[in-house]
Amino acid sequence: MSETMAQTTEWGALKTDVTGYVGIDTIQEQIRRKALKRGFEFNIMMVGASGLGKSTLVNTLFKAKIARRSCLPESNKEPIIPKTVEVKAISHVIEEKGVRLKLTVTDTPGFGDHINNENCWLPIIEYINDQYEKYLSEEINTSRKKHIPDTRVHCCLYFIAPTGHSLKPLDVEFMKRLDKIVNIVPVIAKSDTLTVEEREAFKKRIRDELSSQEVSTYPMKDLDVDAEDSAINAALREKMPFAVVGSDKAHKVEGKDVLGRKTNWGLIEVENRNHCEFADLRDMLVRTHLQDLKEVTHSIHYENFRFDRLQARKNFEKGDAKNKKIDESTC
Ligand code: GDP
Ligand code: MG
Repeated sequence: MSETMAQTTEWGALKTDVTGYVGIDTIQEQIRRKALKRGFEFNIMMVGASGLGKSTLVNTLFKAKIARRSCLPESNKEPIIPKTVEVKAISHVIEEKGVRLKLTVTDTPGFGDHINNENCWLPIIEYINDQYEKYLSEEINTSRKKHIPDTRVHCCLYFIAPTGHSLKPLDVEFMKRLDKIVNIVPVIAKSDTLTVEEREAFKKRIRDELSSQEVSTYPMKDLDVDAEDSAINAALREKMPFAVVGSDKAHKVEGKDVLGRKTNWGLIEVENRNHCEFADLRDMLVRTHLQDLKEVTHSIHYENFRFDRLQARKNFEKGDAKNKKIDESTC
């Protein structure tokens, strides 16, 4: 991707002045119209222990009932958590000002819920690779579709428990394995349970730990394409992981309905930037980096998968041909 960008910035040397209006500026509008007709696809995966607020956060992000939430029945204080027992994707089409977005949310079984969590990342890795495999087989099909349906995971939201101490070994294990195949965006779940000071110290410890363990989270530093990109992404990296709060309950604030949670310190307004970093996460995922998350998935993660797969096939075919020759000579 950075190569393409370098090529286009080098176009400056080829510049030829035009003597009248050609209409090149309409290309933007032509692309926009085509894209609007087709609609957009975005696939997000949520990973973390059960009860960390994954479903609530996705519902808060897209202001719709996208994911099923755990619930506390009135009569019984014991939580009934509809446990996700397998990796499962649910799609919804949401529309705003004529722009349609097909959003697929992949829920994963409560990660690390068991006493023995050995290899609990395997079904998640398998799911992500399966989607790459599906895309690849469509792509290399002789009669391929004009538009290949994209089920590849563009972003994996990793929920960190708000312990205020440090990452769990399982968090590091997971992210270390997954950062090679998917864009990981870590978030501190239920951050209303931490004070502002605890939150800041926790965030810094997590950043230090991720960096010392060489875990690469999105946006990756080596993929910044130019100085403008670097400045925007550096600011995001400094703020990571976002300390988020999710809620689908509205409360009246100065006559207006705002989403929030009542705590001992008062009402935490989900979208108020002075209260938590939900808005920063939403801005990055939807308003500024959605397209980039898709591009990095396609040009980095999928490309790596594709290269390995095609290389393995080639080696297999070579080995097969060699074996055939040996068979023929021994006959
Ligand atoms: P999931 O199992 O990770 O999908 O968690 P759910 O979204 O089902 O939420 C589990 C419980 O935590 C529910 O009772 C939610 O109301 C509550 N919850 C969700 N988000 C937050 C949050 O940001 N802060 C607090 N304090 N509770 C939350
Ligand atoms: Mg859930």
